Amino acid sequence: MKNVTTRFAVSSTSTGYGQVFALTSPDESPAIPLSAPTSLARTNLPKFTSPFNLTQKSVVISPPVCYNQRMSWNLLGHEWAETLLKEQIAHSTLGHAYLLSGAEGVGRRTLALRLAQAINCPQPIAPGEPCRACRTCRQIEAMQHPDLSIVQAEEGGSTLKVDQVRELLYSLSLRPYDARYRVALLLRFEQAHNSAANALLKTLEEPPSNVVIILTADSPESLLPTIVSRCSVLRLRPAPLDKLQKWLEQEHGIPVERARALAHLSGGRTGQALRLQGSPELYAEYASRLQDLQKLLQAGQVQRFAYAKSLSEKRPQARELLQVWLSFWRDVLLTSLGSRAPLVNLDHAPAIQALASGLPPETIQRTLEAHQRTLDIIERNANLRLALEVLMLDLPRA
Ligand SMILES: [Zn+2]
Repeated sequence: MKNVTTRFAVSSTSTGYGQVFALTSPDESPAIPLSAPTSLARTNLPKFTSPFNLTQKSVVISPPVCYNQRMSWNLLGHEWAETLLKEQIAHSTLGHAYLLSGAEGVGRRTLALRLAQAINCPQPIAPGEPCRACRTCRQIEAMQHPDLSIVQAEEGGSTLKVDQVRELLYSLSLRPYDARYRVALLLRFEQAHNSAANALLKTLEEPPSNVVIILTADSPESLLPTIVSRCSVLRLRPAPLDKLQKWLEQEHGIPVERARALAHLSGGRTGQALRLQGSPELYAEYASRLQDLQKLLQAGQVQRFAYAKSLSEKRPQARELLQVWLSFWRDVLLTSLGSRAPLVNLDHAPAIQALASGLPPETIQRTLEAHQRTLDIIERNANLRLALEVLMLDLPRA
């Protein structure tokens, strides 16, 4: 925790937190809004003298504002994106179309919603710093704001259809209802039918004023190049596991062992870790995936290939499953090396122990690497079935 002892003015018209301005000098009015907390340390502000020098609506707040070293959008691992977008908001250089890419559960949608809050919060703490408490912020968080349109393919492997895009384009042509900007959020855009993507092209190039379009996707490579070239692309990566673990402990009060398990099971994806924490069913599904693995270790090639085929029909699930298996093999390797590190998959300790003592460490290491390789291939959107079949051949027999 870093204390910033500069003094600030806060707008008295707001409830709770108001708009915070750095006070420059008594003669200078209006005060200069700050772009981001990070810039506070760099800002050398002359000492403020008297509250009577403030602009009419301002009052001095005391004690001085404290900022966490952590960024305030609370997006673990994507602080660089937060800084960039805040700078753009502060300097009025915000783009009109963004593509947030990265693995599912990495925090793409949350970043999009923070951006929507940042540009629409009527009482921001600083430019680009939404209060996250007002009606607008809360409605955006709940994805229920009238000026926030969310478009996505229906569940169950269907595509995002051209009619959905047309309907969206009509709503974007209207003036914002309540907020400053209309925000269109098109989720998992790799599931958009080509006709739907093409219908969006013209608007992506020249959107109506006061419209920001945000797409999310696995990777830019999974979209039409004509779409990607019209967007500012922000590639989001998973957080380091130790940082995610600490974040889960400190921000969500999750006990240390559980936080560690969630960090590993989610592969550093904050959204996925929180989803797992919030859903006992999903957690149970993880257990059943580990049982699948243990059955496959004893199965023949025909059964293994049949499993690869059925799994290859569901790319997101395949990635999830491999993350789980990877954490399992890490446990096996650590156990075989005599490590005292606590197991991620504690519930499977007997199976882990049996494999650790039954397989040579080199075989375990090779299996671990095969999983990592397969995950990398899946991230690159290569032939999923082929990748899984190769993995099945690499699985040891136990
Ligand atoms: Zn707000």
